[in-house]
Amino acid sequence: MNYEDLYKAAAGESCEMVKRSHGIALGFHSVADGLILTEERKFQKMLEDFRVNPSEPPQSISSVEDFLAGYLFTFSTGKALQLMIDKEDVKKWIEEHFGKGQLRLGGTSANMAVALASFGFSKVLVYVYPLVKELADLFPDLPNLRTVSNKGKIIHPRSGWNGEKLGAIHWIFEVKKGQKISLSGREIICPRDNRFIASWNPVNSKLDIASYFRKIYMGMVSQYPKFLLAGFHIMRDTYPDGDTVENRMREIVSFVREIKGKGATVHVEMASVRRERVRKAMIDLLFPEIDSLGLNEVELSWIAEDIGISSTGIMDGEEDKVLRALEVLRDKKGIKRIHFHTLGYYMLVREKANREALNLAVAALAAARRAETGKPPSCNEIKSAMIHPMSEFGIKASRIFKEDAFILPTRIVDRPKITVGLGDTISSIAFSLSDLHNDV
Ligand code: AMP
Repeated sequence: MNYEDLYKAAAGESCEMVKRSHGIALGFHSVADGLILTEERKFQKMLEDFRVNPSEPPQSISSVEDFLAGYLFTFSTGKALQLMIDKEDVKKWIEEHFGKGQLRLGGTSANMAVALASFGFSKVLVYVYPLVKELADLFPDLPNLRTVSNKGKIIHPRSGWNGEKLGAIHWIFEVKKGQKISLSGREIICPRDNRFIASWNPVNSKLDIASYFRKIYMGMVSQYPKFLLAGFHIMRDTYPDGDTVENRMREIVSFVREIKGKGATVHVEMASVRRERVRKAMIDLLFPEIDSLGLNEVELSWIAEDIGISSTGIMDGEEDKVLRALEVLRDKKGIKRIHFHTLGYYMLVREKANREALNLAVAALAAARRAETGKPPSCNEIKSAMIHPMSEFGIKASRIFKEDAFILPTRIVDRPKITVGLGDTISSIAFSLSDLHNDV
């Protein structure tokens, strides 16, 4: 395949493709993010004070040491990681030492909703709970972005808030390629721009589906027939009231079955679900019900171990290892469409996968443009991302050629302004365009 031609076509046709697409609904995770750029000296001093050295990151944050171990994992490997904060005193420690950071809209659902509405999709409905003023105010003023208010009205998120203060915050610690610290006489150089996320979210960690949203959306599935489901990384194994992740997952599965019965197509965006029991509940209970899955190399390597195959090579994006893991996952769980993304290429595993080549190229240009500017682009703007070179690593990976697996080498921005939200942009745009040529 001539990828340059494919990209040219994608740049030229993206707005037309967007016009032909359907309404998209998104749940169940919208939140405020506090953005913090890593200051090497301050970080190094904290690591020394708490005697933290590189290690496997913990499953969640119960101590300052856990927090710093997670942060150091991202800094030293350049890999994204998100961990939930379990203890309020650790949340207070982080707030005392870093403040709230620069507040931005976050949460996978809100991020993807803004990416899609900014891109030009005409009907985007996002679940926001609880819709408090501090969070509502972070939504951009886009008329095609709607939510359901607790009174059951379809409104822009800014016009239907109830209550003032944030009950949750997700700190995003951005690390930059080339940043250096020294630990026990050893120099650690950050290999790549990325971020570590420490999340405090006691109010939404059950991924409850508010009854008003459920009721209203059930009557509107035909207007928003694509559902992007995300936020599982904020779930807990068990809850203080005795509830469990398996119970919560069954609730979500009942929602998925109901909307699929009304004609919806459901995509799950994996995100960094560090807790094994939560991943297991997703894999066992949810995956058999869904149509589409989006994930990156870290997420796939964890799932590979969960389903009993080796994760070797997946973190490094070795395409044959990635392909095998995706095929096993597809075969075991019956997922029709899986979209894997890593730095350098995307791999789509589905029937007649190359029918989505153009959609993936649109998503790749949108991601490159967003990496360059730090802002979600419109479909008109993505042409300018053609200046960024295609990844050599991705071009090598694309030597695999199969009818049910398509690899697209992606364009790489050398010095990205920001990396947060890129995965969400890629998966949501590709999924939203995925039915233009076929039935997924
Ligand atoms: P995630 O970690 O799931 O948010 O996904 C991030 C994705 O963004 C990666 O898998 C890449 O495909 C893409 N990406 C990251 N950095 C860059 C960059 N500098 N230029 C272009 N795409 C990037």
